[in-house]
Amino acid sequence: MKNKPIVAGNWKMNKTIEEGVSFVGEIQNRILDKVDAKVIFCPPFTLLLSIVESLSASSFGVGAQNVHDESQGAFTGEVSVDMLKSTGITYVILGHSERRHLFGESNDWINQKIHAVVNGGLVPIFCIGETLENRKSGLTGVVLKQQIELGLKNLNNIDPKKFVIAYEPVWAIGTGETASETQVAEAHLGVKSNLKHLFGSIGLEIPVLYGGSVKEGSAEALIQTEGVDGFLIGGASLKVESFCNIIETVAKYY
Ligand code: PEP
Repeated sequence: MKNKPIVAGNWKMNKTIEEGVSFVGEIQNRILDKVDAKVIFCPPFTLLLSIVESLSASSFGVGAQNVHDESQGAFTGEVSVDMLKSTGITYVILGHSERRHLFGESNDWINQKIHAVVNGGLVPIFCIGETLENRKSGLTGVVLKQQIELGLKNLNNIDPKKFVIAYEPVWAIGTGETASETQVAEAHLGVKSNLKHLFGSIGLEIPVLYGGSVKEGSAEALIQTEGVDGFLIGGASLKVESFCNIIETVAKYY
């Protein structure tokens, strides 16, 4: 039986503890947790423990938006895998385009973080995606392949139940411009073929999410697009109505 589609919300730097707890409470009341989708909330660090506690009786997942690869030390402002684990979370977003472009995270550093997260028993949501310039130069496939190969370097075994990839074209994140179904299908099939090359047939079992201005209006067509196993959502994950509508749409196609 195929896995439930994943709908992950990346809250970025939004919501206080009170706002976040009340938000997940409203979502729970509205869609319960029996829905045919794996729903994951990724709030800022300061909310993790409270959100985990609020959702402890549900099947909703909780993830962080970043982590440092070192286990401890003089890294002001950073948190380690063990610190995240102590909050009770399961997932960590890694390699998000904002981390790559605003905070200078390289493929090599993301690779170190992926190793730390996998070794620590958490589940990476590993983001990859091309810039508009890459796409216009016909380099989308090359860039995605490079991000995958460098990001997953020296990862000999991969458990597809404990790994998630998110294809997020940089030009579609937060811009309101969603990639077309043809662009998404082409990218996802390319990603899956890279994963098969690296890990054999098991690579094809790794869920590949689409992210980039997913909205209530675009979710229905995108979730039916070949190779799409769910969504990573920024803006539309911050409002109860839009997030629930997207979850319900995705669940219809399970
Ligand atoms: C994201 O931040 O991962 C994202 C996809 O954002 P948005 O949905 O707002 O484009």
